Amino acid sequence: ATPTAIIVGLGKGASNGILIKDSESIELAHKISVIIFDKTGTITEGKPSVKDIVTLNNFDKDKLLIYTASLEKKSEHPLAKAITDYSTNGNLFEPETFQSLTGFGITGIVNNKTVIVGNLNLMKEFSVATDEAEKIFDELSTKGNTIICTAIEGKLAGFIIIEDKIKPEAPEVIARLKKMNIKTVLLTGDNKSTAENIGAVAGFDEINAEVLPDQKVETVKKYQSIGESKIVAMVGDGINDAPALAQADLSIAIGTGADVAIETAQITLTGGKLTGVIKAINLSKSTIKTIK
Ligand code: ADP
Ligand code: MG
Repeated sequence: ATPTAIIVGLGKGASNGILIKDSESIELAHKISVIIFDKTGTITEGKPSVKDIVTLNNFDKDKLLIYTASLEKKSEHPLAKAITDYSTNGNLFEPETFQSLTGFGITGIVNNKTVIVGNLNLMKEFSVATDEAEKIFDELSTKGNTIICTAIEGKLAGFIIIEDKIKPEAPEVIARLKKMNIKTVLLTGDNKSTAENIGAVAGFDEINAEVLPDQKVETVKKYQSIGESKIVAMVGDGINDAPALAQADLSIAIGTGADVAIETAQITLTGGKLTGVIKAINLSKSTIKTIK
């Protein structure tokens, strides 16, 4: 039978925006040794918006935007929405072909031209020359922005700079977790310099960047296999990270995310605030103390 203290704990959680699915999570949350956070939508607001467009060799900015947005119209990625929202006053083309490469970007034929849109690794995958542009790329991504590359007819035409603001409470939440002796890890499919910048601002112990959606599970397993009796928690919003949430010993979803995460997760924090993670751990601590 479930002890009364746990039932009381579940009720207290619910009235504080912490929805706990099973009593096991209350028993686990105070024992977390490693906590992994997905970046987009979890540590950041998850509302990306276009800040700037930088072109190479005087390529026309509007043209770059139109070709990129024409292709992004077919994508469901949050970055795609940022680009199509920004491109309101151009006439977009209907792509002749379209292909999505999860964790990398998209490609297709737009107005008879081959267009590739995504990260630097995608450009390399398609043998687009990036050597000269990589320095600019690194400089642009040091501010924590996500940089989208567009290649037209095999040539890199420029970059779209997208900002997704870090949640204001992130640094304090990470600092408090570290004080509890919990190792904090940032996990993302985004590029290394963007991840390192956001990781440094928030104060993470470790950063795992350029991790493809299906490799996120492996990252959780990696932390589970270090040392003994580790309780590894995963915090995500469910876009790309539902399998990683399922793999973790304790899964926490940020409530503004996709429904899939909320179904997978043992704990759901409504309202999107990271402070709920601290509240959930403290609730677990006080509940367990009452039982003992
Ligand atoms: P995250 O782990 O941050 O949620 P994803 O795995 O969804 O990131 O994507 C990783 C990277 O792949 C993005 O940061 C972006 O560079 C690129 N990418 C993915 N989808 C698109 C798209 N539709 N348009 C442009 N770039 C994309
Ligand atoms: Mg994500």
